[in-house]
Amino acid sequence: MSKLSIRDLSVNDHRVFMRVDFNVPLEDGRVMDDTRIRETLPTIEYALRHGARLILASHLGRPKGKPNPKLSLKPVAERLRMLLDRELARGENVGFCPECVGPEAEEVASKLEKGQTLLLENLRFHAEEEANDEHFSKQLAQLADYYVNDAFGTAHRAHASTVGMTKFVQKAAAGLLMEKELEYLGRALHHPEKPFVAILGGAKVSDKIPVITHLMDKVDSLIIGGGMAYTFLKALGEPVGKSLVEDDKLELAKHLLQEAKTRKLKLLLPVDHIAADKVDANAHVTKVEQGQPIPSHLMALDIGPKTIEIFEEEIARARTILWNGPMGVFEVSPFARGTFKVARAVADNPGALSIVGGGDSVSAVRAAGVADKITHISTGGGASLEFLEGKKLPGVEALTDKR
Ligand code: AMP
Repeated sequence: MSKLSIRDLSVNDHRVFMRVDFNVPLEDGRVMDDTRIRETLPTIEYALRHGARLILASHLGRPKGKPNPKLSLKPVAERLRMLLDRELARGENVGFCPECVGPEAEEVASKLEKGQTLLLENLRFHAEEEANDEHFSKQLAQLADYYVNDAFGTAHRAHASTVGMTKFVQKAAAGLLMEKELEYLGRALHHPEKPFVAILGGAKVSDKIPVITHLMDKVDSLIIGGGMAYTFLKALGEPVGKSLVEDDKLELAKHLLQEAKTRKLKLLLPVDHIAADKVDANAHVTKVEQGQPIPSHLMALDIGPKTIEIFEEEIARARTILWNGPMGVFEVSPFARGTFKVARAVADNPGALSIVGGGDSVSAVRAAGVADKITHISTGGGASLEFLEGKKLPGVEALTDKR
């Protein structure tokens, strides 16, 4: 990686401002899922073990620039205390500051001792955070000597805590989680072991067009499933019934299909389908066999068994696999099989570097119980998509270059 890592900093006795992603679901002031907190624990532990005075900052929800007690990070501080206590017996050393800038934050931050942690209140209680305001950036930077960004999920946003403040600190480095994201996504994009198979799914083609375009000259095969496949099938002249189609993207789909042909890229689309007249667990389900038209009153809501077989074969041959987006409406059980089968197929290829991104595909590999067989589960939905589109992420660009 061309950017500094926390491992390149001598954090001992220094105040380290760490941007983390603690944007966790809360209900009645309780953390309902602490995955994101646990994911950044290795970086937090690294900093504490190396004697840092650690200041953590995050956003939570969308308070729109105003304080909102329902979106306070205080319950997160409590959960972090519990987790650190379990891991490092350091829970008692986690403090919470009800402000993220200003005299109170400055005073508490300046009194932090080695090995102590302070979590600041929600950065987005200030409109200046998302506006990447310079004065606010300076106020944040004033709290620390070094800056570490471990919030890959917000690296595609140029905010004060992800970009603005990096100009006003001595050094800005990636945390261990950010480093891991960049390493694996970077390896897939820049030095993939071949064959490289990308699997894209989900509802809309429009969301994934830039990814498809960018991956076209990198992958050996492109598997397209989920709702987005039906715009391509319609572009090929196939009857798709009431399946999800973006009519304004038909021309583009034709163009992409032509491009794939010209580049001799293997583009795999569903050949059979699981269809129904409504998205409902009790809906009457029809299997549409290969070569048969999707009836005009039905929507295809999952890939069929033949398609699963074809996709599994392709996945089994791969040495690099990238997966983003479900193969069907996997939230509703009669339409979940394709997505779970693909999750298992990816997990059953231990020789390949496998990367799974996007909330739905990540939940699918977790629900299928195969998450530990995936090389890398990407935590940043929007950020990983932008990375795969070939865009530079402002939060990464802002980090200090390695010399
Ligand atoms: P995305 O956010 O674009 O990755 O899309 C995820 C959503 O796509 C999930 O909520 C799925 O239910 C939905 N989806 C997947 N396949 C289909 C399909 N064949 N028809 C309609 N929606 C689908």
